[in-house]
Amino acid sequence: MTSNPSSENDPSGMTGIMLPPLMVGIPTCMKYCSHCGKTVVFRIPEGDNRERFLCESCGTIHYQNPRIITGCLAVWEDRVLLCKRAIQPRSGFWTLPAGFLENGETATAGAERETWEEVRAKVAKLELYTMFSLPHISQIYLFYRAQLIDGIFAPGEETDAVSLFHEADIPWDKLAFPVIRDTLQHYFRDRANNEFRVHAADIEISRDIRR
Ligand SMILES: [Zn+2]
Repeated sequence: MTSNPSSENDPSGMTGIMLPPLMVGIPTCMKYCSHCGKTVVFRIPEGDNRERFLCESCGTIHYQNPRIITGCLAVWEDRVLLCKRAIQPRSGFWTLPAGFLENGETATAGAERETWEEVRAKVAKLELYTMFSLPHISQIYLFYRAQLIDGIFAPGEETDAVSLFHEADIPWDKLAFPVIRDTLQHYFRDRANNEFRVHAADIEISRDIRR
């Protein structure tokens, strides 16, 4: 991950408009209009049906949409590559290399780039494998199955350690996020059946459980 995708939705960390708890799905807080520099308000624009950051000075409506996180389940022989996070959230926990897709980038190119940045590994034969929708934090996760090209890897800047794991050695209780656990569980189940397919899931967490 290139930044902290969940904590920036935490109203306690916001410097601009304080969003009510129901609004934690809004990806980014905004205080000033990026067009004219005046203060924005958060309300439903005329003719719309949901709240937006709106500049009453110049009339600009600042639409915000979910962000995409893309990454790789990289395999070398019969082992999978995991990296230990060096940054919050979930520092010290194991994850798959992944991060925010950049503008102008394909999802596969983003997964390859994040894999290089986080674990200094080159991958090939990317195939879409899992897709998770997380509306409560306005994020979509895409993980690709991929092959390590040369078996070489090393920790990137946001990574403490990188290692290849046999199924029996996966640190299930030290995984950073449920989407990582789910992707690995699908992988080992599909591998045992020798039949891989794309797995898509919606992970909806109610406000009562989340907070
Ligand atoms: Zn404006």
